Amino acid sequence: MPSSVLVYCPLCKSSHSEVVLRKIAAIVPKQSIALRCCLECGAIFLEDWDEKFLPELYDYYAERVGLEKDRLYHPLNDARYAELVDEIERLVLGRRILDVGCGQGQFVDFMVRRGWETLGVELSESAMTVCKQFALPVKKIDVFDSTLIKESFDLITLFEVIEHVPTPKQMVEQIEQLLKPGGVLYLTTPNFNSIDRRVLGASWHVVHREHIMYFTPNTLKNMLRRYTHFEVLRLHTQNLSIAAIREKIKGRLLNPSGVREGDQMLRQTIESSPAMRLLKLGTNSMLNILGWGSTITLLCRKPMQR
Ligand SMILES: [Zn+2]
Repeated sequence: MPSSVLVYCPLCKSSHSEVVLRKIAAIVPKQSIALRCCLECGAIFLEDWDEKFLPELYDYYAERVGLEKDRLYHPLNDARYAELVDEIERLVLGRRILDVGCGQGQFVDFMVRRGWETLGVELSESAMTVCKQFALPVKKIDVFDSTLIKESFDLITLFEVIEHVPTPKQMVEQIEQLLKPGGVLYLTTPNFNSIDRRVLGASWHVVHREHIMYFTPNTLKNMLRRYTHFEVLRLHTQNLSIAAIREKIKGRLLNPSGVREGDQMLRQTIESSPAMRLLKLGTNSMLNILGWGSTITLLCRKPMQR
């Protein structure tokens, strides 16, 4: 059990909430996970979240130490990153980036090759070891570390990170401080309003102990509006976890790595066929209109002057 059991909302600290999802974790020891919805601010959070970083939840990186880049870094991600950075380079003049929660460092690696002055920060020791074997510019610090200089970054990125953080309010406030005026924040996070979550319910592969906060496009936008001055440039939802939904319909369950592998294979099939790419584009437009895609992507900008 975590050292301190907390049932108040990590975002607004209200103690008024109700359980919206309960599941038995598939890993040993079996442990019930309950998600609650805050009745004050609408945030969805893990019932017994912990204030501290729990390194044992990130042990899976240890299995990746010693693997070559081509085993760890998927080439399709590079194409996705290039499209994103093309857009960002039209928005900012400087080329200094902080990638928060950089994990095994694929985006850090990409940005170094792109010619940006790059820093990745990460708390998992084993993820750090993976990054260091590729000599990537990374530090084992959090975003609140005093060595990070205010108003010094043109871009801050958080790929699937904000859901792991017990202090999301303080984190977005700090990111605003670290960005230069006019600098941009790009983040992605699983969508609690997604079709995946609606169909899969308690077997939604995203629900596990690492994740403290679950956002919808609205709760994410409200958090920024309430605690920061960011101007939202785009807030989209995209993709469906076809592999997990297909197995659920067949009455089987996939573990998270099975879901990732299944979806990765599907992505490859889609990318190799123009007709499938067109179908994907149409599906994503529809998911975006409805706000039901698996992943929320957010691009927002710190105002030039306040
Ligand atoms: Zn709340």
